[in-house]
Amino acid sequence: EEAKQEQLPTCISSVIPGWFSEISPMWPGEAHSLKVEKILFQGKSDYQNVMVFQSATYGKVLVLDGVIQLTERDECAYQEMITHLPLCSIPNPKKVLVIGGGDGGVLREVARHSSVEQIDICEIDKMVVDVSKQYFPDVAVGYEDPRVTLHVGDGVAFLKAVTEGTYDAIIVDSSDPIGPAQELFEKPFFHSVSKALRPGGVVCTQAESIWLHMHIIEDIVANCRQIFKGSVNYAWTTVPTYPSGVIGFMLCSTEGPSVDFKHPINPIDDDADKTQKPLKFYNSEIHSAAFCLPSFAKKVIDSK
Ligand code: SAM
Repeated sequence: EEAKQEQLPTCISSVIPGWFSEISPMWPGEAHSLKVEKILFQGKSDYQNVMVFQSATYGKVLVLDGVIQLTERDECAYQEMITHLPLCSIPNPKKVLVIGGGDGGVLREVARHSSVEQIDICEIDKMVVDVSKQYFPDVAVGYEDPRVTLHVGDGVAFLKAVTEGTYDAIIVDSSDPIGPAQELFEKPFFHSVSKALRPGGVVCTQAESIWLHMHIIEDIVANCRQIFKGSVNYAWTTVPTYPSGVIGFMLCSTEGPSVDFKHPINPIDDDADKTQKPLKFYNSEIHSAAFCLPSFAKKVIDSK
């Protein structure tokens, strides 16, 4: 048995006796596993391996290059937080850009904001969009909003071409910095983001786990403090199927009208649109709480 284990590939996840194990150099020495009922889709796009399986306890699961992107059961915790942390922190957001987020979940959440007039999304991989529409209709429902325009392409190139000061908010719903999302964690990208935002505009980017990736977070915070002259804050939430069970967000605003991320001023009127399902995770209390950091993380982040 031990010999068999040793022959397993080290850097790729594999479906072994009925279980999916998430093995990656980004979290060495640990691998969260889910019991597989059925593999529903396996494909290879120009950018990554794409897989969908039915799990025993978390519903359908979307996997890119061996890494879980979302499950039907806990996607609300991620999509609602990455969207409403920025959008509930500014008055009347009108123009919103999503980078990545091909599954459509962030679009679904942005669409709850009635002030929003334009929602652009730039996702690099059309296969993620198509697979999400086919297997995750409750997530991809975000594409049905008439305010949404999909651009298939690299978010880095897209942002470079954006007219200065266009967006009220930019949400970077990226995968991990190994693979096509690498540049979305680098300084030039944050520069383009800050240029594309209006004065006092906000950005929220996926910013990894305080348990696993403090070194990545430190770099992101240091870069953001140099580039964004308004507020720079780190927040986090729980997502049981992400490595270490938590994920963080970097929230920044550009110079201009000040933004106090910790005290949301633009609550969502959950009853306004009866066609939408109610929020499952986000509320104003959890919004403020998301900025309270454990001492070990606070120390590092405050020192940057
Ligand atoms: N919304 C998800 C959730 O619930 O956790 C997670 C992540 S989403 C699927 C990440 C997306 O970022 C992927 O679809 C990936 O193709 C996309 N992506 C990666 N690099 C990109 C780039 N350079 N430009 C645009 N999109 C990119």
